[in-house]
Amino acid sequence: MPDRDYLFLDITTSICGICMRKVEAKIIQQDGRVIMRKWCPEHKFQNVLISTDPAFYRLQRSFIKPGQMPLQFNTPIRYGCPYDCGLCPDHEQHSCLALVEITDHCNLECPVCYADSGPSRPTHRSLEEINRMLDAVVRNEGQPDIVQISGGEPTIHPEFFAVLDAARQRPIKHLMVNTNGLRIAGDADFARRLRDYAPGFEIYLQFDSLDPRTLNILRGANLHKSRLKALETLNNLDISTTLVATVARGVNDDQIGSMIDFALKQPCVRGVTFQPVQFAGRTRLENPDHSRLTVSEVRSAIAEQSGTFSLSDIIPVPCHPDCILMAYALKLGDAITPLTGLVDPQFLLQGEGSTIAFERNSDLIRAVYNTFSTNHSPASAGAALGQLLCCLPQIKLESTLSYRNVFRIIVMQFMDAWNFDIRSVKRSCVHMAQPDGTLIPFDTFNLFYRDHRRAKLEELRRATGYELRVGGLPLI
Ligand code: SF4
Ligand code: SF4
Ligand SMILES: [Zn+2]
Repeated sequence: MPDRDYLFLDITTSICGICMRKVEAKIIQQDGRVIMRKWCPEHKFQNVLISTDPAFYRLQRSFIKPGQMPLQFNTPIRYGCPYDCGLCPDHEQHSCLALVEITDHCNLECPVCYADSGPSRPTHRSLEEINRMLDAVVRNEGQPDIVQISGGEPTIHPEFFAVLDAARQRPIKHLMVNTNGLRIAGDADFARRLRDYAPGFEIYLQFDSLDPRTLNILRGANLHKSRLKALETLNNLDISTTLVATVARGVNDDQIGSMIDFALKQPCVRGVTFQPVQFAGRTRLENPDHSRLTVSEVRSAIAEQSGTFSLSDIIPVPCHPDCILMAYALKLGDAITPLTGLVDPQFLLQGEGSTIAFERNSDLIRAVYNTFSTNHSPASAGAALGQLLCCLPQIKLESTLSYRNVFRIIVMQFMDAWNFDIRSVKRSCVHMAQPDGTLIPFDTFNLFYRDHRRAKLEELRRATGYELRVGGLPLI
């Protein structure tokens, strides 16, 4: 009897990449790749590239720990996932990172914008709505790990500093501003005021490339000079900054290493986040089988191109291992020592708190700092660190090192209609706060819950027939 020409690994529920109805999806391994194969009665078979590294895909699937729950859920289970966001009680992870979008307006109109923002969208959220969004995060999280003020372009909100003040009045551990940097580059007074919000404050700076042509493709504008100016300003003001690069196949995936090398030289930069394009909003996917850039490819590119990090340094984040990878290094002047590959994976699985917020993981950070404060050379310190981490939590902190000595690489993928996987989306830990008190996973938000997409959502909900059966009453 003939064998299949692929290995059947798993089955899950996805949605059709075109009409978005729920469909069954097979996960298969074929020709050294992991593929999602699904079938829609109307749009037939769809093959979607999920991973270029089957062994790493298996590691991601095993790199899990029990989900951490929010203090409360916000919506009932009524239609089934993903139509009940959220968070509904079936969700498996609290908000490691909550986004508060304060405006739809933007001074750019990037071709890769998942939010469809731009100059033609004038709406700013009122301070009253923003307060409700912040309250929603605090109600769910108690002391939220990371809140990111986002948009549109948040820095052009007329009450931007009142928004930061409102966030600061709440027990938020780490406050970030997600920005394209134009205002920071062009308004020195504005930039200086940002410094007042440190510590526990960070700029999440859009920074996709050092090549002007690439920026033109991704952002539709020549932003090279303004990006460098924004970064120079942040360096001068010593404001913690993460560089955020949207990466697309054939556009800037060959620049990943140079971005890391550049970032390592910037005193204010605490790390780089690479986000493969999410095909939502303004972006369209040409060929789901080939055009998508996967997290496994970004991981390989980091190892091949950077010269600092190896594959073993880049590991899945246990709260959402399908979509988030991380690598940490200790930064002591020019000496960069990758750490993650030295950490016992069991520690990461059992560690406290959110593993995205490494600096909040007090046991681990104490261990790291203690090790490196004993004046090891980077090489011997690495060996010592490995031993120390295995004997946690007995390590005591004796160090003057701080967050500025940490360099963090995150690879963060958000699912779209093509690679959507209900098994995985339930672990999503990046959530969008809403004025109505809900927190919606970033992935489902851009597909079903943002603006005009709600009409489609209602159609999909009606198609389940559940509303009729339960008379509109919550099932919990
Ligand atoms: S994604 Fe999460 S919050 Fe949304 S419906 Fe599914 S389980 Fe509920
Ligand atoms: S991606 Fe950011 S900078 Fe670009 S249009 Fe969207 S909100 Fe504006
Ligand atoms: Zn379809």
